[in-house]
Amino acid sequence: MDLNVFITTTDASCSECEEKLGRSAWITLVENKGALCLACADMDHLTFLPSGDAALTRRAGKYTILKAVVLKWSRARNRYERQGLLVEAQALERAEQECLADSEARTRCREWEAERRAELDQQYLDRFAVRLCELFPRCPPGRELVIAEHACLKYSGRVGRSAAAKQMEAEAVELAVIAHIRHTETDYDSLLAKGYERLEARDQVGSVVARILARWAAPGSKS
Ligand SMILES: [Zn+2]
Repeated sequence: MDLNVFITTTDASCSECEEKLGRSAWITLVENKGALCLACADMDHLTFLPSGDAALTRRAGKYTILKAVVLKWSRARNRYERQGLLVEAQALERAEQECLADSEARTRCREWEAERRAELDQQYLDRFAVRLCELFPRCPPGRELVIAEHACLKYSGRVGRSAAAKQMEAEAVELAVIAHIRHTETDYDSLLAKGYERLEARDQVGSVVARILARWAAPGSKS
C-alpha cells in the first residue's frame, strides 16, 4: 500500500498538534481528520529521496518497510506531480551502496540532509543525549544520539513544542525513546505500511514497547 505525502501550496496547519505549518509544508491527509504534519503522522523518521534516479528509487523502495510518495500540485499542469519518495535511512544507504554511480538525485538528497542537519542545535542535542542516558541507562550504546537527533529535528522551529522539550522533561525524553523503539524494535512501520490506523498499530505493539522501555530504564550498565 502506497502512502502519500503532499507538499502544500497554501497555508496549512496540523489537525492534531495544531502547529501552523506555513506554505510548502509536508503533510499527510487522513480521512475525517484532514492534514497531519509528518511528526504527528509518525513519518518524520523517513528520509527524502528526490525523483530522478530510477535505479536508486527502485532499490530504496524495495528495502524500506515504510514508504510514501511525495506529491506536489502543479498549477501549470493542473495535476499532482511526483517529487520523490520518503524511505527509511538504512534502506537508502543500502540502495546507494548498490548504485555505485553518483547521480544528481544523490547530490540533491545530500543537500536536503545537510539543510536538515543545519537546523540541529548541537548543545541541545548533547544535553538531550545525556539526559536520555540518565533515564535509560541500558539504552544500547549510540542509540541515544540517534534518538536525540530525531527529537531535536522534530522540535526545532516549533515554538509550541520546543519550550517543553528544552526543559528536558523526563516525559519528553521518554516520548522520544518510545517513538524510537516503536519504529526500530517492533512491527509498527510494517503495520502502517499495511494501512493500519496509527492508534490501532500502537495498540498492537504496545506490550513489546513497554517491555523494551522497562529494560532500557533498568539501572545498571549498558547492555
Ligand atoms: Zn502535527
